[in-house]
Amino acid sequence: MSKYWKPGSERPRTVLVDDEEGGVLFVSTPASSSGFGYLSLERQRQRLPVYKYRTAILYLVENHATTIIVGETGSGKTTQIPQYLKEAGWAEGGRVIACTQPRRLAVQSVASRVAEEMGVKLGEEVGYTIRFEDQTKPNVTKIKFLTDGVLLREMMDDPLLIKYSVIMVDEAHERSLSTDMLLGLLKKVQRRRPQLRIIISSATIDAKSMATFFHIRRRNIGQATEDPAPSELPATLSVEGKGYNVEIHYVEEPVSDYLQAAVDTVMSIHDKEPPGDILVFLTGQDDIDAAVQLLTEDAQNNGLLVLPLYSGLSRADQDLIFSPTPKGKRKVVISTNIAETSLTLEGIVYVVDSGFSKQRFYNPIADIENLVVAPISKASARQRAGRAGRVRPGKCFRLYTEEYFVKEMPAEGIPEMQRSSLVSCVVQLKALGIDNILGFDWLASPSPEAMIRALEVLYSLGILDEDAKLTSPTGFQVAEIPLDPMISKMILSADTFGCSEEIITIAAVLSVQSIWVSVRGAQREFDEVKLRFAAAEGDHVTYLNVYKGFIHSGKSSQWCYKNYINYQAMKKVVDIREQLGRLLRRLGIVLKSCERDTQVLRKAILAGFFAHACCLEEFSPNGMYKTIKSSREVYIHPSSVLFRVNPKWVVYHSLVSTDKHYMRNVIAIDPSWLIEAAPHFYQLRKPNPAPY
Ligand code: ADP
Ligand code: MG
Repeated sequence: MSKYWKPGSERPRTVLVDDEEGGVLFVSTPASSSGFGYLSLERQRQRLPVYKYRTAILYLVENHATTIIVGETGSGKTTQIPQYLKEAGWAEGGRVIACTQPRRLAVQSVASRVAEEMGVKLGEEVGYTIRFEDQTKPNVTKIKFLTDGVLLREMMDDPLLIKYSVIMVDEAHERSLSTDMLLGLLKKVQRRRPQLRIIISSATIDAKSMATFFHIRRRNIGQATEDPAPSELPATLSVEGKGYNVEIHYVEEPVSDYLQAAVDTVMSIHDKEPPGDILVFLTGQDDIDAAVQLLTEDAQNNGLLVLPLYSGLSRADQDLIFSPTPKGKRKVVISTNIAETSLTLEGIVYVVDSGFSKQRFYNPIADIENLVVAPISKASARQRAGRAGRVRPGKCFRLYTEEYFVKEMPAEGIPEMQRSSLVSCVVQLKALGIDNILGFDWLASPSPEAMIRALEVLYSLGILDEDAKLTSPTGFQVAEIPLDPMISKMILSADTFGCSEEIITIAAVLSVQSIWVSVRGAQREFDEVKLRFAAAEGDHVTYLNVYKGFIHSGKSSQWCYKNYINYQAMKKVVDIREQLGRLLRRLGIVLKSCERDTQVLRKAILAGFFAHACCLEEFSPNGMYKTIKSSREVYIHPSSVLFRVNPKWVVYHSLVSTDKHYMRNVIAIDPSWLIEAAPHFYQLRKPNPAPY
């Protein structure tokens, strides 16, 4: 079966590789960016574990309304199944095959891989859609990757998702809020459209409970369709992967600084272990950038190629992650949770697991939602370790003790549904005509407290009325805007205050990761540069200054570089801003500018964010604030221009928590505006007197 190079055909690279069957192959020129770089794309496809199940998968999808596919990360579920479906004709007659992902970066990366494998231009036959970025062509796109959130939005215009023949809900084990909503809604759609096929796929999933959930009983709608309806009984298929053994190492004593411990571990692997790439799991952009910097400083000339991996990365940086490691180098990828199951990197032999990830947590009593660096579950830890056994036996270094793993680490994570604010979810379901939300068919029910709190917040924002119905026009308009309802409300209020031009700029900036490039070690210069833009009112107004500067510079990358501003992020801001402008025009809103009047601007922000108002504690030496609503202790984040300025009254956009709760994106307000913005909200609170 081995192929040998014959003179006269394309010249092979002189590399010898052990074939799986034991033979030795001469292989031809590198065909792709993947770690199997020396095999043709077609050959790579055939080597993936799902390939053996191609016929079975197609058979099950043909005959069952729902198919559940479980398979190890990297077995080819995401990239191959949509192609098999297309090859089998599921995209004929103008129909589209959809594949959803919880993460935007995964959507982009997988779509571009599939386009490459099919030899087509991304955005045509194979396309993707994420919020504010649509790379599809109507009537041309046959395979479409999208976030589960975007598919939910599409249901507002097309409740039965008529254009799709098959919807593959991928990474279902992640149990993101949108995935859970989608699963409940798809079950409803299936009742009305028996021909729709659903595939639920993931690396680890409790297939039984998923199958029970999807065992629908169709109402007999009495109309004869040309095709017989597929079986209502869900089918389950498990793809056997070929993972190698991974040796687990624990630390003996708990580590106090996981970042430093991760860096030290990488250096010691590089020192002592044979070649093979390293994958490090940290939590977010901040600690990843810090680790990259520490390792790059340390790794001068010693053969480490250190790369970050998190959402918001530019296309070029994403490509580096997947390109083969240069000869004589060892690649170190420092990643968020995204490399746990969404993306597969070839060539990884060592995994360093910090034991943490960034997770959203919601406290319905205090109505505080924040991003917290929190311990992962055993299920996640196993997934992470598994990443080391893709190409050959590997090693996983856990930066926690074995005792901690056995005794304290939770077995499973909690679905996002049960640890998020439900404000957005309620608006979306209401807009889809689902009124009894607690009675909705959930895979896991949200807590009644969180539901009540969401209804309260939406009522105080004027988005729901006394009967918990969307108000007209505000509620319906909020549902149309693909942003958090508080931001949407802020945007709509800006119309009344005459500052929508400015507010959509602010909304656009708040929708990207960060517009600053922070450089470790250059903190002082960075702070000085920031002062050039800083506005006394706070971060939101500062962003307007940055935006003006950027536009004034002719959108220059040079200007961004000089000012420690992220050029990619600013380009995104301009683009999102344009889209928001178009959306408002569609809603019949004419953009107006308030020129330099920051008071109306701040009032518009408050109209959306009054629930996030805080007051500085008197005599607090360290700048402690308390939220007015629930008296929680919060502090201004060091990245804010108001850090150390500490105005008496502020409103924040979001909270992040490490050792304390930190407010990100803060503006100063006048307390009298609060009563104006939300009379019921601030006057009816009994335990907390009105704010002055
Ligand atoms: P699964 O969904 O089962 O986890 P995938 O379909 O994502 O598996 O991956 C199958 C193979 O395709 C893996 O070997 C992976 O490395 C490769 N692959 C996926 N995306 C890319 C990409 N953007 N560039 C190069 N290789 C990729
Ligand atoms: Mg996948």
